[in-house]
Amino acid sequence: MQINGKTIIHGIIGNPVSHSLSPAMHNSAFAALNLNAAYVPFPVTDVASAMTGLRALGIRGVSVTIPHKQAVIDHLDDIDPVAAKIGAVNTLCIKNGRITGHNTDWIGANRALAEKIPLSGKKVLILGAGGSARAIGFGLLEAGAQILLASRTPQKGRQLATTLSCPWYPLDAIPQLTADCLVNATSVGMAPHTDTSLVGRKNLSRFAVVMDIVYAPLSTKLLSEAAEEGCQVVNGLAMLLYQGAAQFKLWTGEEAPVDVMRESLISSLSAR
Ligand code: NAP
Repeated sequence: MQINGKTIIHGIIGNPVSHSLSPAMHNSAFAALNLNAAYVPFPVTDVASAMTGLRALGIRGVSVTIPHKQAVIDHLDDIDPVAAKIGAVNTLCIKNGRITGHNTDWIGANRALAEKIPLSGKKVLILGAGGSARAIGFGLLEAGAQILLASRTPQKGRQLATTLSCPWYPLDAIPQLTADCLVNATSVGMAPHTDTSLVGRKNLSRFAVVMDIVYAPLSTKLLSEAAEEGCQVVNGLAMLLYQGAAQFKLWTGEEAPVDVMRESLISSLSAR
C-alpha cells in the first residue's frame, strides 16, 4: 500500500508495543480490502497527552494495550456500555475529535468459544482473576452463560466473583467442578514455562470445550492434553483474531477478512 495524503491512520498505544502482533494483522487486512489505511505502533507513557494527540491528529482507530486499558477511560468522550461494566477499554474510535472507548476482548473470546458451542445457558469455568478473566466473564454473562471462577489469590478471586455474581473456588477445588467449557485466562502454560497446566489431564474429559487464551505457544500443555482426552479445543489465537476483527469492523464498517488476518498472526508468531 502506498501511503499518500488520504491515508487513514490507525495504531496501538501501550508500553511496550514493539512486540505487538496487531500492526501486521491490521495492515494485512487493510491491504486485502484495498483500503487506503495504515496501522502503526505508538509507544506511550503519558496517556493524557496521547489522547489529546490522537484527537488533534485525526487518527481514526486505536488499539489500547497494557498498561493503559483502564487509564484511557478518564479521557474518553463516550464509552460502550459493556466496556464500562468491564472497566477496561482496548479499542478507541475517533470521529470529529470525539473518542469512544470499546472493549473487543470479550467479543473475541465469545466468538472463539461460540464456534464450538452455543453459549446461552452453558456453564463455563474460568481460571484466573486478572484483566482477561474479567473481560471474558462479563462477555459470557452478556451471552447468557453461567460462570464459575477459580483462581490462585483468594481475595482477588473473590472480588471478581462478587463483581460477576458467580461462585469462586480455589485452584485445588478444580477436580470437583463440572462445566460445559473450561477457559484458561491465566498466563500458566505460556513460554518459557510450557510444561505447566492448572488442570490435571484426568480432570479434562468432563469439559466439552477447552479454551486457552495463551497464544505462545499455540498448543499449550492444557490444550494438547484436552485434545487427547477428546475435548474440542480453542487456542489463544482465535480470541486475538476475533477481537481484532471486531476492531476492524468498528473502524472501517467493513467485515474483517479473518482468513488473511489469521495467516498474518500465524506467520508473525512462527517468525518469533
Ligand atoms: P493479568 O491481569 O496479569 O492476570 C493474570 C492471571 O493469571 C491472574 O489471575 C493470576 O493469578 C494468574 N496467574 C499467573 N500465574 C499463575 C500461576 N502460576 N498459577 C495460578 N494463576 C496464575 O493478565 P491478563 O491480561 O489477564 O492475561 C493473562 C494471559 O492471557 C497472558 O498470558 C496474556 O498473554 C494472555 N492474553 C491473551 C489474549 C488473547 O487475545 N488470546 C488477550 C489478552 C491476554 P492471581 O489471581 O493470583 O494474580
